[in-house]
Amino acid sequence: MATLCWNHYQHLEIYFGVPSFGGVLHTLNLRLSPDDLEYIVNHAEDKVMMVDQVLLPLFDKFKSKINIKHIIVIPNAGQPVPEGMLNYEDVIASGDEKNYIPFEGDENTAAAMCYTSGTTGKPKGVLYSHRSIVLHSMVSAYAEGLSLLESDVVLPVVPMFHVNAWGLPFTCTMIGCTMVFPGPYLDPPSLLELFEKEKVTITAGVPTIWLGILNVLDTHPGKYNLSSLRTMIVGGSAAPRSMIKSFQERYGLRILHAWGMTETSPVGSIGVLNSEIQSLDKEVQYDYRAKQGVPSAFVEIRGRNENGFIPWDGITMGELEVRGPWIASAYYNTTEQEDKFTSDGWFRSGDIVTIDEKGYIEIKDRSKDVIKSGGEWISSVALEGALMGHPAVAEAAVFAIPHEKWAERPMACVVLKEDNAVTDEELLAFLAPQFAKFQLPDVIKFVKEIPKTSVGKFKKSVLREEYKNYSN
Ligand code: AMP
Repeated sequence: MATLCWNHYQHLEIYFGVPSFGGVLHTLNLRLSPDDLEYIVNHAEDKVMMVDQVLLPLFDKFKSKINIKHIIVIPNAGQPVPEGMLNYEDVIASGDEKNYIPFEGDENTAAAMCYTSGTTGKPKGVLYSHRSIVLHSMVSAYAEGLSLLESDVVLPVVPMFHVNAWGLPFTCTMIGCTMVFPGPYLDPPSLLELFEKEKVTITAGVPTIWLGILNVLDTHPGKYNLSSLRTMIVGGSAAPRSMIKSFQERYGLRILHAWGMTETSPVGSIGVLNSEIQSLDKEVQYDYRAKQGVPSAFVEIRGRNENGFIPWDGITMGELEVRGPWIASAYYNTTEQEDKFTSDGWFRSGDIVTIDEKGYIEIKDRSKDVIKSGGEWISSVALEGALMGHPAVAEAAVFAIPHEKWAERPMACVVLKEDNAVTDEELLAFLAPQFAKFQLPDVIKFVKEIPKTSVGKFKKSVLREEYKNYSN
């Protein structure tokens, strides 16, 4: 049963209503193209579509190409739903508890599914079982994880169509937290007003959301009272160290860095600091907080490169492999498994990492984004993090451009904060102490905005294509 919905309470009802009778909740990413949505709905063989009335124009673009039996519309207050479609509130009101037969089948049965956003090839489906959702919720919520309490007020900015909003609807319901949903209003001022009004204690989203929030806080000092907020969970792409430090030191706000993927339910690692690290110098603590953390309980990790498994030395890079009770072991109904799963049951993440002696993972790049300059690998993530540490820089994306001698060289696209100015030479001089010379970008280009994926990550494939002939 598919949903095409923003984050709202009806979506939460559906999250529980569908698996509770044995259905499979399939959340569709409303930022994908109609062609992708058509492909995904047909591949998943969805039979029921629950769609926000405001999203009907999007649904109309692929409705005729899918085979759906019932269309249930989550209505806009006071508006009639189109003919041939059911009104969600009427469907709920017509239910009779006496006829409800709860699902009591095998815990390994699918309860939910999501598709990857398909940056390489077709989107691929990942199934989550009742068992994997329960285990993922229990471990995510515990004190050394997201540390959720019944008294928490949690606002997931991360969409409920993106890996189940990182599991928060399930985890928060298990703990009994209050949840606040932003609907389609995801601009920084709307979010900040909601944090203040609802006394939000925990929120979660991708770094671009928090960079926008930081910018508004900096330009409107004292406007928002965020004294209730105790943790801002960030994942989806690397949180720049400078952003983590700025929130902490300027606003007393704690960023908690986590890593995961559609294939990992998604929480795979969380950047909590152990007591030993907490006793170290503040700057060292920020270094650890900028890493993606240690694997959650029951999640096993290892890194591998062309020389075999990497040592846990915090230096050697390799592809991260993961295994655990909520890590996918196959994609749904496809023969194209892209060698993503090893014969001994590990998922090959495609993320290039180091792992240090304490078990902290640091994501250096997606394997397709790492810049291969001569025989050396340059981390685009490290350069981006450092560039975004410059006070004039709002956003920076670093990617490879072809080079005759070195094969690839780094190029940076930089968006400046409003009313700020800086030259490329100044930025290079700013980076120089933090990097070896060969790691510095060959070109820094100032742009108005950086293209983003459907879930708010930098779309580097577009930049690589746009600048592939850039002379250097
Ligand atoms: P998705 O399946 O859309 O959630 O994307 C998963 C990918 O996002 C991972 O494979 C990583 O490349 C990236 N990612 C997720 N969390 C982080 C993080 N904290 N730091 C860096 N990259 C991340």
